[in-house]
Amino acid sequence: MLSFLFPEGAATALWSSSSEGSVLAQWGSSAVLDSASSLQRAFDRVAQVDDGREVRYVRPRQVHGSTVIEVDRLWGSLKRSGDSLAEELAPPSHGTSFAEADAVVSWSSIGAPVVLTADCLPIALYCAETGGIAAVHAGWRGLVGGVLAETCRLLRRGRSDATIVGAIGPYIHQECYEFKGPEQDLVASRFGPGVFDHDHLNLSLVVEQVCAGEEVDLAFDCGICTGCDPNYPSSRIGGSQERLALAVVMGSRR
Ligand SMILES: [Zn+2]
Repeated sequence: MLSFLFPEGAATALWSSSSEGSVLAQWGSSAVLDSASSLQRAFDRVAQVDDGREVRYVRPRQVHGSTVIEVDRLWGSLKRSGDSLAEELAPPSHGTSFAEADAVVSWSSIGAPVVLTADCLPIALYCAETGGIAAVHAGWRGLVGGVLAETCRLLRRGRSDATIVGAIGPYIHQECYEFKGPEQDLVASRFGPGVFDHDHLNLSLVVEQVCAGEEVDLAFDCGICTGCDPNYPSSRIGGSQERLALAVVMGSRR
């Protein structure tokens, strides 16, 4: 499993590989992952979540859009009067369907954002000033729609001077990412023709452009192409139905 530790050990980003098993087989369609998942245990182990917390891994139903879920808001909506804190944070039952979204922001040390990808760019974010963490599914549609910018806006909580640090996991690199048709004009009109090399899209140039505009410090890029590395699923190269999971967990004991 790939991991990145944010400054001061404030949060850990984790990207699963095929050696952690099939994400689809393990997680099915449930939105809040149950503690029986071996992948969840692997995340807990690598993030060293051994301080008594029971981390709940929360993922949206992804639709290549720009909607962002906030964990406290989501769980707050389930709050019932008279509940204790622990009960407030209890997730909905296994299999409950969450809102459609392509990024999750969390303000809770118990709620860990998760997104699934296979070629799209999985980016983890941390904001030191607000203490928020986020996982973003950044494909071309979501980037055109503004999912990354919207996540940064929420993470800042109105503090324009707040620093955001970003970390990028495996995604399809330009040499493997053939991108043709009218959608090429849409992407080029938004991000400029320079993000293409003939019919190949450079997703990282798009993300770097958005991050520069949002003043995100990109501190880490694992450098792995899902199309080239057989340890990671690619839907474009080989048509994999599997996904890699990005989880962002608050804190670390390392
Ligand atoms: Zn490649």
